[in-house]
Amino acid sequence: MSTISDHLQEIRQRIQSAARTTERNPSTVHLLAVSKTQPTNAILEAADAGQKAFGENYEQEAVSKILAIRASRPDLKLEWHFIGPIQSNKTRSIAEHFDWVHSVDREKIARRLSDQRPAALAPLNICLQVNISGEASKSGIHPENLLGMAKTVSAMPRLKLRGLMAIPEPESSPDRQREPFKAMKVLFNQLRKAGYDVDTLSMGMSDDMDAAIEEGATTVRIGTAIFGKRNYSSRKDSR
Ligand SMILES: *Cc1c(COP(=O)(O)O)cnc(C)c1O
Repeated sequence: MSTISDHLQEIRQRIQSAARTTERNPSTVHLLAVSKTQPTNAILEAADAGQKAFGENYEQEAVSKILAIRASRPDLKLEWHFIGPIQSNKTRSIAEHFDWVHSVDREKIARRLSDQRPAALAPLNICLQVNISGEASKSGIHPENLLGMAKTVSAMPRLKLRGLMAIPEPESSPDRQREPFKAMKVLFNQLRKAGYDVDTLSMGMSDDMDAAIEEGATTVRIGTAIFGKRNYSSRKDSR
């Protein structure tokens, strides 16, 4: 039976070959292991296989795992990324426990995260979530409003704008997967041209990571291809 460690190895190889296809340096593509609904022992197994960055979607579930791991394994220096929808009553806990938030799409949420980020911690790294598939998705900033949001967020003192994130509608054909990733890369370049010092394009999941890397992803968010199927019954957070 293959293990989390084997899966991580396979994913790293997939990253390498997708990067090489477009003559990108594979070290410019970061792997975020999406551990939502997975138990702490699965996270520890990945950490012991060298994985450092983990993505979580549900605040309550995530924080209990973060605290448990910190208590049992203070030697591990893991990086925690919040990638799920954000309710305003969760911003304080997210600002206190995470290093990154990929799913910022409203000014109100950004302001709360900045106000609530503890002074002792480094500024919170932020990606703006873009609605790149149009009406099909309810979350994400409309591309027309992106520059305005970038301006607002980059002025917030306890946030550091790092880049963009998208969750395109699932498509099975690689050619159709590519379209929204291409559009994201255009938006990313526009931000850079406008003078924003962004370095992160968070896009690509288990089923479309190869296309995302070929179109310029700098972070892929991979869950099932590392941990296997999600166990939703273990989910503690009620949203
Ligand atoms: C669950 C999730 C992922 C991982 O998806 P897989 O298909 O399991 O790789 C990536 N990004 C976000 C925002 C998610 O919610």
